[in-house]
Amino acid sequence: MYRFYINNITNDYHYSELARVFLADDEFEVIGIRLPGGRLPLRDCSFIINREGSEDRDEIKREFYRLLSGLTGRDPGWGTLTGVRPLKLAYEMLRESGSVSGMEKFLADRYLVSEGKISLLREIVEYQQSVLEGDPSSRAGLYIGIPFCPTRCEYCAFASNVATEDEIAAYFDNLLREICYTGRLAAQHGTILESIYIGGGTPTTLKADQLEVLINAVSEAFRTDPSGIEFTIEAGRPDTITPDKLSVMKTLGIGRISINPQSMKDETLRRIGRDHTAEDIRSGYRLASEYDFDVINADLIAGLPGENENDFRATLEEILSLGANNITVHTLSVKRGSRLREHDPEYYRRDTDKVSAMVSFARERLREAGFVPYYIYRQKHQMGALENVGYCRPGKHSIYNIRIMEEKQTIIALGAGGIGKVYYPEEDRLERVANVSNYKVYNERFDEILERKNNYYK
Ligand code: SF4
Repeated sequence: MYRFYINNITNDYHYSELARVFLADDEFEVIGIRLPGGRLPLRDCSFIINREGSEDRDEIKREFYRLLSGLTGRDPGWGTLTGVRPLKLAYEMLRESGSVSGMEKFLADRYLVSEGKISLLREIVEYQQSVLEGDPSSRAGLYIGIPFCPTRCEYCAFASNVATEDEIAAYFDNLLREICYTGRLAAQHGTILESIYIGGGTPTTLKADQLEVLINAVSEAFRTDPSGIEFTIEAGRPDTITPDKLSVMKTLGIGRISINPQSMKDETLRRIGRDHTAEDIRSGYRLASEYDFDVINADLIAGLPGENENDFRATLEEILSLGANNITVHTLSVKRGSRLREHDPEYYRRDTDKVSAMVSFARERLREAGFVPYYIYRQKHQMGALENVGYCRPGKHSIYNIRIMEEKQTIIALGAGGIGKVYYPEEDRLERVANVSNYKVYNERFDEILERKNNYYK
C-alpha cells in the first residue's frame, strides 16, 4: 500500500482521482497534511508531496503525477487531467492564451498532456471551428430516451431493459404525453431546436408504427420538420432493424442513424451478451444503405474481453468497407452498474498498452480513410485512462454530440435515462433537470416527472 501525504491541501478528491489513473483503490491512500517544512517520519512506500506548501493545485498535481509515473513506469497521455471533457479545457486555454500554440503550451506545461493527445485536441478544435456557427445558447437540443434493448450487454451501464410489449407500450403512451406537454412549453417560450437525438437503449426496439407515431409527435409538438434539422435515431442493435422501420425513418425525414457493431467477431458478440452475429450487422448495413441516410454512425469499442489488436483492426476495416461515414471509437469503460464491473472490477487496469495501440491504430487508419476527429470525451474506469473519439467524413459530424460536450446549450431530456440541463449564458452555468433512469419508476411517478419539465423555464 502506498501512502501519499500531500502537504497543504484541504480536499484529497483531485489527487485521489489522479492516483486512480495509476493504481487500484486498495493500493494507495492519499492523506492531506499540514506540516511546516514538510517533515514527517515515513514508513516504506510513503511519500510526501508538496513539501514547500504550494497552494497551486496544478503544481501539486504535476509533482504527484511525476511521482506516480516514476513508481509505476507508466505515462498515460492525458497528464494530470482526470476530467471527462478535455476539449472544454482546451477551449478555455485557447481563450486564455488567444492562440492555438498558446493552448498547446498550456496543455503541455500546466497539465503535462502528451504531444499525441495535444495534436488530437488541436485537430478537433480546428475541425469544430471550421463547421460551427452562431451562438449555441440561442438554441436547444432535444434528447428522447427509449430505454429498451433485446438483451443487456456485459459492459452496459445505461438505462436499458429487456421489457415486454405491454411494458413498452405503457412507457410509450406516457412518453407521447411528455413530448406533447414539453413541446407546448417550448413553443410558449420560443425555444428553437438545433438538434434532436433519440437514443437509449435501442429506439428501434419500437415497432415501425410506434416509430412513425413518435417522429410525428416530436415534429408536431416542437414544430419542427425532421428533414430540416439534425435528427438522429439510434438503431444500435442490428437485430432490431427491419425494412419497415428504416422506411418510416427515411420517409419522415430522419437524416442520421446509428448502427453499432462494437465488434465484428462472433465470439466477442456472444461474450458481451449480444444476441446477434456479425452477419446480422453486415445485413443491417446493406439494408440501411438502400435507404440512403445522410449519416450512418458505427460505434466500436477497443478493449472488449478476449479481443486482440488483430480483432480490433479487422472490425474497423470491415466497418469502413460497410460504408459508415461517422465512426465513434470508444475505449471500454468498466462502469458501476455493469455486469462486467461485478465480475471483474479491475478489468480496465489490464492490457492497457494493447488498448492504447488499438486506439492509435484507429486514429491513423481513419485519417488515411479521409475521416477527421470531431468530438472527444473521457469516462471513469476507462481502459488505460484513454478516451472516446468521434470521427466523421468532413461535414458528417453530429452537432448534438458536439453540443453535449461543449456544455453551452440547454438540452431538454424526455423519457427515462436522459440527463436534462438548462444553460444560463449570463453565468456560463448549467443546471441539471432531474430525470429518472428506470422506466418503471418513470411510469409510476409520471405526473411528478411531467411537472419537472417546467424547470426548463423557471
Ligand atoms: S445496446 Fe447499448 S444500451 Fe443496449 S444493452 Fe447494449 S450497451 Fe446497453
